[in-house]
Amino acid sequence: MIQNDYITCRELIGFLADYLEGRLTEEQRHEFDRHLSVCPSCVNYLDAYRKTVALGRLALTPSDSSAQGRAPEGLLQAIKSARRN
Ligand SMILES: [Zn+2]
Repeated sequence: MIQNDYITCRELIGFLADYLEGRLTEEQRHEFDRHLSVCPSCVNYLDAYRKTVALGRLALTPSDSSAQGRAPEGLLQAIKSARRN
């Protein structure tokens, strides 16, 4: 992995479930945190995702894996506006 390059928001979303389950390697986790440090929209998304997962567990919905690789509309909008900066 190239050190000066940040992972994309899409990649971060792909890591999200593993991140929350503590399954990332040290390097992946480092890249994840580095992206979060420069991307407020992903910080917001992570926060919302955590709450959604908490609710999902209460409801016992088997939707954890289907969330991977799929970015909700609201997030895509946030990414587009963030990239204009
Ligand atoms: Zn991001």
